[in-house]
Amino acid sequence: MSIRIYDQWGNKVMRLFTMGPVEMFEEIKQFRADSSIPYFRTAEFSEIMLDTDKILKKLAGTKDSSQTIYLTASGTAAMEATVVNCFSSKDRLLIINGGTFGQRFVDICNRYNIPHDVLTLKFGEILTENQFSSYEGNKYEGLLINIHETSTGQLYNIKIVSDFCKRNHMYLVVDAIGSFLCDELHMDSSGIDAMICSSQKGFCVEPGMSIVLLSNRIHEERIIHNDINSLYFDFKIYIENLERGQTPFTPAVGICLELNKSLHYIDKLGIERHLKNISDVAQDFRKRMNLFPVSIPEYPLSNALTPLYFNEDIAYKIFEILKNKYNIMVNPTGGHLENRLLRVAHIGQITKEDNEMLCRYIELAIDVVREI
Ligand SMILES: *Cc1c(COP(=O)(O)O)cnc(C)c1O
Repeated sequence: MSIRIYDQWGNKVMRLFTMGPVEMFEEIKQFRADSSIPYFRTAEFSEIMLDTDKILKKLAGTKDSSQTIYLTASGTAAMEATVVNCFSSKDRLLIINGGTFGQRFVDICNRYNIPHDVLTLKFGEILTENQFSSYEGNKYEGLLINIHETSTGQLYNIKIVSDFCKRNHMYLVVDAIGSFLCDELHMDSSGIDAMICSSQKGFCVEPGMSIVLLSNRIHEERIIHNDINSLYFDFKIYIENLERGQTPFTPAVGICLELNKSLHYIDKLGIERHLKNISDVAQDFRKRMNLFPVSIPEYPLSNALTPLYFNEDIAYKIFEILKNKYNIMVNPTGGHLENRLLRVAHIGQITKEDNEMLCRYIELAIDVVREI
């Protein structure tokens, strides 16, 4: 079976309404088409990396003195690397687990024998302040959370989490992969010590680079003293290299250039305007869904994604029909929600007209399923 991206006349036929990869901005696609990959141990490449870093910190709401790790790896590697660079088996962590990505933090801590407790949310359950009450009392060194649990679409309230961590003197580690550059998020004012991002999500470029931003506090108190049992994932050498705009190992050079373009694009537009565009497209899509046989969960949602809960077991079939018949990609959901939950992303080059088109095809797909 082949993946059809272009038709016989060279027109693009594949449309992505997925969380990552996403439908890239025209400017980025043009840039990719026009450029070859340069050699990177040069002053010119260093300058681009330092420029990227400056804009990134501005958009993330953190000081220039915070540290950044540019890791050539997928988001999970950055989650794992962050945990092992910041914590050890001498610590105790609290993990918020409301889906697949929360579970991933649990799996990482299990692998490294890092003691932890888990605040588990059932599907549909909202994270509230009350749920933290039994975890108070300075019992933990750190908290791990996926601020947008992308497997369900729930956007957690950062203020509740941040206040809890301040009260209990904990480091706050936020996997913001599904949320950064999609929802409002300010690293310093929310007291975030480590913020994890990935190229294929909010940045809307290719998969392959992940970025971890570190507060001064966690850098000075934890990172520089760690004795991590890994070379590739040792943050200390990334920090040392970035002082001159370099990474210790060959990065995904092309994606680094795309990241720079993407951040300039968003910064030029203005972050508020950029977030509002995503939110407008999301609101438009959610309104259209009123006419469909689906419900949208009641928990707070990220702008990035709308979860669609079907009242019959047809979600995975709809995904397949959209893909196989119409070349439209939405996110299916793994695990016990597979046949009930589809997830539609609103980031990248997506407009209200695209929503209209998608709705037409979802309607057709529902008709097809009912005929089978
Ligand atoms: C996409 C995503 C990841 C990263 O997954 P990878 O497949 O390893 O890139 C991690 N956390 C969240 C919340 C995500 O949305």
